[in-house]
Amino acid sequence: MIDSHAHLSPRIEGGAQGLISRAKEGGVKNIILVGYNVESSFEGKAVALQNDGVFYTAGIHPSDCQYADNSAIDQLFELLKSEKGVAVGEIGLDYYYGKDNKSEQIKAFEKQLELASKINLSVVIHSRDATGDMTAILQNYASSLKKGFLMHCYSESKESAQKYLELGAYFAFGGAITFKNAKKEDIIKSIPLNRVLCETDCPYMAPVPYRGNVNESSYIPLVYNKMADTYGVGLEQLVLQIRDNAYRFFGKKEFIEG
Ligand SMILES: [Zn+2]
Repeated sequence: MIDSHAHLSPRIEGGAQGLISRAKEGGVKNIILVGYNVESSFEGKAVALQNDGVFYTAGIHPSDCQYADNSAIDQLFELLKSEKGVAVGEIGLDYYYGKDNKSEQIKAFEKQLELASKINLSVVIHSRDATGDMTAILQNYASSLKKGFLMHCYSESKESAQKYLELGAYFAFGGAITFKNAKKEDIIKSIPLNRVLCETDCPYMAPVPYRGNVNESSYIPLVYNKMADTYGVGLEQLVLQIRDNAYRFFGKKEFIEG
């Protein structure tokens, strides 16, 4: 199994090594450590370089968009020069928390989409309450993003999912799909099985029965189980399918060997 979206956090018991060792004991072979600013991207890279099966992304989250100046973008560029750097992210738009700086968010997002296109990497996208601007921007950039993009923790409508799919999107779902009243089944089933990934987004969004606790990669089997039930496929089949999807999207041979 693969946790396609994990954040390092001091809230996770034992820090990075605790996170990784408990995940491996639980059969999670790959973890992608996702950066949300320059510092966390550096940290994710350092941990990935020291641990088999662990990869990293580098990017500036919309809530940190004020820091996405040219020198920060240059740092991301340097940071991603490594075999284990798999994507630019997480980047995007968040109009739920950031209603007042939309144009600043858009600027930071577009700069980083240009970076992804320049270095030919995939993109991990955070999008909240921003469907209109997000689809418009992706329509402009999708053809230059040769490795494609992933809508992480997808929370928009089924109709928007179809628009993103037409642009080649992948979608990741996490602990929220296990919540009672989540009602995500219809949206998930509208997405072809070859375009989905599972993630924890730890330390946030712990799946049931750990809801409200600190999340970590070792809980990802709960998300896989819910996805397998939703699609009506066996767990084994889903695990193989998602491994193929992750390889196709992130383009790393280790996913197949792992
Ligand atoms: Zn995240």
